[in-house]
Amino acid sequence: MTVVESARQRLRVQIRGAVQGVGFRPFVYRLASDLSLCGWVINSSSGVVVEVEGGSGALEQFLLRVARDSPPRAIVQGLEAAYLDPVGFVGFEIRESAGGDKTTLVLPDIATCPECLAELFDHANRRHRYPFTNCTNCGPRFSIIEALPYDRPTTTMAGFEMCEACRGEYEDPRDRRFHAQPNACPACGPQLALWDADGRPLADRDDALRAAGGRIAGGAIVAVKGLGGFHLMVDARNDAAVRRLRDVKAREEKPFAVMFPTFAAAVASCEIGEREARLLTSPEAPIVLLRRSPSRDPTPIVDSVAPGNPSLGAMLPSTPLHHLLLADLGFPVVATSGNRSDEPICTDEREAVERLGGLADLFLVHNRPIARHVDDSIVRVAAGRDLVLRRARGYAPLPVSLRSDGPPTLGVGAHLKNCVAMSVGANVFVSQHIGDLETVEAFGAFERVIDAFEGLYETAPAAIACDAHPDYLSTAYARRRGSETRPVQHHLAHVLSAMAENEVGPPALGISWDGTGFGLDGTIWGGEFIAVTPGSARRIATFLTFPLPGGDRAVREPRRTALALLCQVFGEGAWGMDDVPTLAAFSQPERHILRAMIERGVNAPRTSSVGRLFDAAASIAGLRHHVRFEGQAAMDLEFARERMDTDEFYPLAVVVTPQPERGDPAAVAGLTDAPVWAIDPAPLVRALVADVRALVPIGTMSARFHNGLVEAAVEIARRSALERVVLSGGCFQNRYLLERTIGRLRAEGFRPVWHQRVPPNDGGIALGQVAAVAWHLA
Ligand SMILES: [Zn+2]
Ligand SMILES: [Zn+2]
Ligand SMILES: [Zn+2]
Repeated sequence: MTVVESARQRLRVQIRGAVQGVGFRPFVYRLASDLSLCGWVINSSSGVVVEVEGGSGALEQFLLRVARDSPPRAIVQGLEAAYLDPVGFVGFEIRESAGGDKTTLVLPDIATCPECLAELFDHANRRHRYPFTNCTNCGPRFSIIEALPYDRPTTTMAGFEMCEACRGEYEDPRDRRFHAQPNACPACGPQLALWDADGRPLADRDDALRAAGGRIAGGAIVAVKGLGGFHLMVDARNDAAVRRLRDVKAREEKPFAVMFPTFAAAVASCEIGEREARLLTSPEAPIVLLRRSPSRDPTPIVDSVAPGNPSLGAMLPSTPLHHLLLADLGFPVVATSGNRSDEPICTDEREAVERLGGLADLFLVHNRPIARHVDDSIVRVAAGRDLVLRRARGYAPLPVSLRSDGPPTLGVGAHLKNCVAMSVGANVFVSQHIGDLETVEAFGAFERVIDAFEGLYETAPAAIACDAHPDYLSTAYARRRGSETRPVQHHLAHVLSAMAENEVGPPALGISWDGTGFGLDGTIWGGEFIAVTPGSARRIATFLTFPLPGGDRAVREPRRTALALLCQVFGEGAWGMDDVPTLAAFSQPERHILRAMIERGVNAPRTSSVGRLFDAAASIAGLRHHVRFEGQAAMDLEFARERMDTDEFYPLAVVVTPQPERGDPAAVAGLTDAPVWAIDPAPLVRALVADVRALVPIGTMSARFHNGLVEAAVEIARRSALERVVLSGGCFQNRYLLERTIGRLRAEGFRPVWHQRVPPNDGGIALGQVAAVAWHLA
């Protein structure tokens, strides 16, 4: 039978996802034209809607190719098609954006594309050396959008009127800059200026750029206004300059990130695997944690960039401005957030002169406003996948889908590494990294991000989920808002966050290990095992608690935690263990004070934190007794293990804990707290001390320590009889711990799940809080 071309039909296709501002409508225009279809395409509140009319064969082709051949930056999350009666369209048109509710995705900022890059360095091109060139495939998005739909008047480019040439490109469907909202050129777009430390202009345009480069080469600290905020830049090969930057930023040892001029330059300084190479050169262009290889480095990066650290946070230029600056320099620069420690990154040039006064010698600024701060993202490759450690530029605010609609919920996150999340329908939009809510500036940024989210998506939350910690500023904010407040226990939020981003539902065993989180029993948690079943969550196991003498001071001084743990394990005998580095790290008067604190339990809260166990082990092994930043001792221990492969492990004991007499205790903050098992670290501590005394190499001790924790996790998984095991919490930023746990769980027949797009650290808490409400666990 011959199938003749059937009668005309109309096809309506709704494409949901990140399909605005990526050249999707021009792509649809070209596709429809190729297939001789009539109709229209429009950006709508729910994504892109297309109606096409034609023969059934052509419509089938259209349906097949619209998703398959879509532009590289489009992210199609769903596609619904319906055949309808024809209405007699003539030709194909791109219609103006419609209004309505704003559930469309906002795209992240996209690194400069190869075409724009080629034009940037092409002497004959009218955009030669123009630092703000972009097209539909690249350039700013999230950092310039003030409202939806994404059109030029709703961006910070509204104040720049396109010249005739730019307007021509913008209106030509065949042009790469067709409907590129930030389209600009030297004649009509934003321009650079160089200011001195007091904000007085020194030079503008290309002169500003060249002069800034000259001063960086001469050892100056230059504040550079980028896409989502300021960087402070210095020559990464100049020890004096890097040390001065550390001084003025009051950042003693925390590693700085480095921007390399080219991929080849990064290869000369770091070991780069295939996946890491893809990440470095991806449109997201994050900071990628790489292993250093100083031996191959022709112009070595000084050690003060990342003191004692075998890794380096490396990135490549991701905007035309950074491409030009780094090409002029030809050497790597430190590129650290333009802020004082723990404050949010500066976005406005006048504010920068105020806030960064005394930090920067010069300011390289421009007159394109930044709508919102967006830091550099940080990613490492672990277990053969990407592991996002800080989610910001290139990733935010892409949503995670919960796959079920619910009332709009705002998650206000934790206290440190704060970020917020809001659900609109089934999508949870996860904000960019905000930071530690320790300063007025950080709290202001936190409120601005929430306001912007509610404005952007035109949604007021029906419920606000927060941490169960009553003293967190984020918790206080949730209560002040007056909406329905839903406290979610911190470690449960970690687990649910990993489940949500992996689209894994209950039942599952969550292993939630971090530094500290508010527990429900008056202790500080951080080594928790949570069984999540439909509609309920129960802490089935934990670590036996130990004291933190001095509370927060113990976090800054791992030797305190170590001493408390030694006392718990060895009793009175601990005070005579002068051959253990921890004891030697205290003076006699200090020992007296600590002794009183530990024995009387005064100002010594108890914790089950695995992060603090890492601290204690680092001190006992003699690696570090004081930290300059959170997680430093754990990092030392992780680095100490490198290239030491062994299956040996320190033993830990699993003990059965007494159960409450009358049934289940009531659930608080989504969690029933009735651990069946507790892991006693005493055997581990004894074995570690024995190894210290036997002068066992540090790498071996570190491996045995890590492996011991992994075996304990596997043992609890076995007892839980749950096949899915979810790994979350800051401890799983440790690549060896993560990979070893995954490997051992798989070997024992479990199905491990871990973070990829959302950080395992407290940057993931907001998503978990929203998931808790959606899954009726708050
Ligand atoms: Zn481009
Ligand atoms: Zn122009
Ligand atoms: Zn945490």
